[in-house]
Order: sequence, then C-alpha cells, then structure tokens
Amino acid sequence: MIKIFDTTLRDGEQSPGASMNTEEKIKVALQLEKLGVDIIEAGFPITSKDDFNAVNQIAKKVTKSTICGLARAVPKDIEVCWEAIQEASCPRIHTFISTSEIHLKYQMKKTQEEVLEMARKAVKLAGSLCQDVEFSAMDASRTELDYLCEVIKVAIEEGATTINIPDSVGYAIPNEFGKFIADIIERVPALKEDVILSVHCHNDLGLATANSLAAVQNGARQIECAINGLGERGGNASLEEVVMALDVRSEFFSEKTHINKKEIYKSSRLVSSITGLHVQANKAIVGKNAFAHESGIHQDAILKKRETFEIMCAEDIGLDTNRLVLGKHSGRAALNDRLQQIGFDLSDEELLLVFTRFKELCDKKKEVYDEDLEAIVNDEMATNQQKFQLKDLDVHTGTIHQPNAFVEVNVEGDIQKAKGEGTGPVDAIYKAIDQIIGDHGELMEFNVNAVTEGIDAVAEVIVKVKNKQGRTFTGKGVHTDIVVASAKAYLQALNKIVQRG
Ligand code: MN
Repeated sequence: MIKIFDTTLRDGEQSPGASMNTEEKIKVALQLEKLGVDIIEAGFPITSKDDFNAVNQIAKKVTKSTICGLARAVPKDIEVCWEAIQEASCPRIHTFISTSEIHLKYQMKKTQEEVLEMARKAVKLAGSLCQDVEFSAMDASRTELDYLCEVIKVAIEEGATTINIPDSVGYAIPNEFGKFIADIIERVPALKEDVILSVHCHNDLGLATANSLAAVQNGARQIECAINGLGERGGNASLEEVVMALDVRSEFFSEKTHINKKEIYKSSRLVSSITGLHVQANKAIVGKNAFAHESGIHQDAILKKRETFEIMCAEDIGLDTNRLVLGKHSGRAALNDRLQQIGFDLSDEELLLVFTRFKELCDKKKEVYDEDLEAIVNDEMATNQQKFQLKDLDVHTGTIHQPNAFVEVNVEGDIQKAKGEGTGPVDAIYKAIDQIIGDHGELMEFNVNAVTEGIDAVAEVIVKVKNKQGRTFTGKGVHTDIVVASAKAYLQALNKIVQRG
C-alpha cells in the first residue's frame, strides 16, 4: 500500500492566487477525506492566526484521515503546530529543515553540524508531543548523499516515523531520483521496516509524477501530492495522476492506494472552483478534454471498441457522462439529490438559499447543468459569510456618456453607497467599491468565462487582486449578467484581503 499524503491545503494553498479561507479549507478537507487520502496536510499553523484556525477546525472535523501540520525545525513552530492538531483522531507533526549545501550556505547561513543538531532537537520535541512525526530534509534531491543519510539516521533515532525526501525545486530526473531513493534505503535499513520513506516532488520540469513513480519502484511508500497538481511554482505531483498511473498500470506496479477513484473528479472541480484556478483543458485525468475525442479516426475506433483510444473510463474517476439537466419544474428534492451527486452536502438552511438562487436562474435559463449548479452553490456559500456583500448595482455605459456606476454594498448590515466613473462599466464599479471599502490592493487579472454554452449561459468572473503586502487573492462572482458577476468577484477578493488582515 502506498500512502497518499495530500498537500493541497498547505503547499497548494501557498501558490499564488490559491488562498482559501477557513470555511473553504474545511470543505476541501472533508472532500479529501471522502476521496480516501491517508494524510491531509492541513496547513502551516505558525504562519498566521487564520492558518492555525483552519488546521485546528480540520483536526476536529476530519476523523478518517491523519491530520498533519507543518512546522519548521524550531521549538515554537512545533509547539504551535501540536496545539493546532492535537484534537485530531490521528495527528501528525511534519517538521522540516534544509539540508542542501546551497540552502545551508545562502538561505540558512548554518553549518552541517548546526543543521543536524536542529533536526535532532526538532524531531525529539515533536516526538515528545505526538507519536506520528514526519521529518523532511528540504532540497534533499540536491543534498550530498552521505550527509543526507546522516541527518535521516538522527531523525529516526529521535523518533521520526516517516522520512520525506523532497525534490523541492523539481530538479530530479526519474532514473536518477529512483536510484537516489534506492541508495538512501540501502544505507538506512530502518526505511525497509517501520519507518516509511516518502517523496515530495515538484513539477518545474514537468516530471513530478514520473519522479514519484520512480521513487515507488525503488521503495518509497508515501507520495506527497496535490489535487490538480497545485503547488509552488510549477506545482506538486498531481494526486490524480499518481493514483491513476498506479491503478491503470496495476500489472506493472504491485502497489495500491486507498483512494476512492470515483471521488477524483469531484475533488478536482471543488479545488478549482474554490481557488478560481482553472484546470488546463488538456490536463491529464481531470482536464476538460481528457476524455474527449475530436479526430474522426479516433471517434470511429472508439465507437467500435472504447479501449482502442481510451486507457481508462470517465466513470472511473466519477465523471458522469449522462448529465442530468434540471429546469423550472425541478423541485427542492431533485435539486438536493443532484447536488449530493456532484459532491455538495448542504444544510437545510444552505439548501434554501441555493434553491432560491436556482429558481431565479431557471427564470433566465432553460436548462441548468451541473456546472451551473456548482457555480451558484460556491457563489452562494462564499457570499453568505462575507463582510461586504453587493446589495444593488446601477450601471450606465455605452458610446455616448462616460461609463458610471452606482453601487450599494451591505457592510455587516449597514448599507453604504457610492458612485464611480471609469473607462468602462467594470472600472466604474470598482472605483465605487473602493470608495466604500477603501483601497486594499491592485487588480492584477480580470477574466470572464461562460460556465456553459449558449447565450443564456451563466458568467463566471475571476479576478486576482494583489494586496499591499504583495499577496494575491482570487475573487469569483457568478451571475447571468457579466457586470453583476464582475462586482461580486471584486467584492469577494476584497473580503478575502480584509479577512486576512
Ligand atoms: Mn513543496
């Protein structure tokens, strides 16, 4: 069995524009639990109050997966991490320190001996608090083997139960990395027994999945990965890719995972819709085109025998090909039933909000698809908890007058109004909103997409706003009117910025 360690909520969340708030993180964590991941890395508790809270809430709510928190190899980090996760049914402290020469010299400005002692003390402290301790040697793939093995042995002596070998900068090549893993296991025999060797591969050269699989062939027993390959820079190994490779090529790999494959597609959609980071169409396993066939030759062959051009079925990953369409005459039960099938478990109160929204949509749009439902549920859930909510909007635009917008925002029950003028309707709206909420950052990106096909499609506007500290926040708004969706998207991003403080 290969343990699947998901870091969507830690490494993934650290990547530009992927910030999630606590409620969103809990939603993702519960879905990861359903997906059957063995370990959820829920966050990095020392980094902020928000991160601490999110990890703590997840620790209390998730019962099946192990809940892991990240901590640098310093006492304060480890203590705070333990505080955040101690209520989990299976808590894990994950502590790390850089071991490569380049990191020691330039980043840490420490000697190998100093780092070795820090690692020793960190693992010892973590072990005194928690039975399950993972130790990572950051930038391991660029670390000299002798020194790396020395650090690993010390970590094991002090009680580490998992040793993680990260290719932190995505530098490794599959054969080389596989051999590296085999050499480590050869030199540290405990890794053949109780202590699990893990890998954490980055995708800077597009090799994260290949490197993870090479490691498995050479004795690794845990893979760290993220949904949709989310993560710093080029991202982490994609969970869906490593899991499906082990599954589809089961005659080649004897290793298996606990992943419930049917939840893969839902998990991918949820993460993409919450972060606003689209999955590229040709992305392996979960991309929009992953099971689409355009070439006539392929289509013809598929009709004769599916296996001619498909190595797996869309149904395997929970992609429902016969989509049910809802409309005006669909009742609350039908809506709830469909929502559950596409992965949303709503409370009665939430369902009522979504149902109202669904009925409004049915007045404007004949057929309501899963994508529409997903968009309105996420929009409704996100808006519901916001400090600033759009109340009313009156926009004038065209070729005759300067575009202007009159905006009313509900600020925790207090209705505030402002008027803005701009180069276009969106500019005018955003200027009016800034007058109400204040200037919190700079608009970096603005995108409009139609959620489905057709002139009556729901519009999804995604904006990225950079706050004064340089951190990027994503906001999303959904409406049949692109101008309204634009206002909602901007407000959502500002809500996230203000919430983060
Ligand atoms: Mn990483």
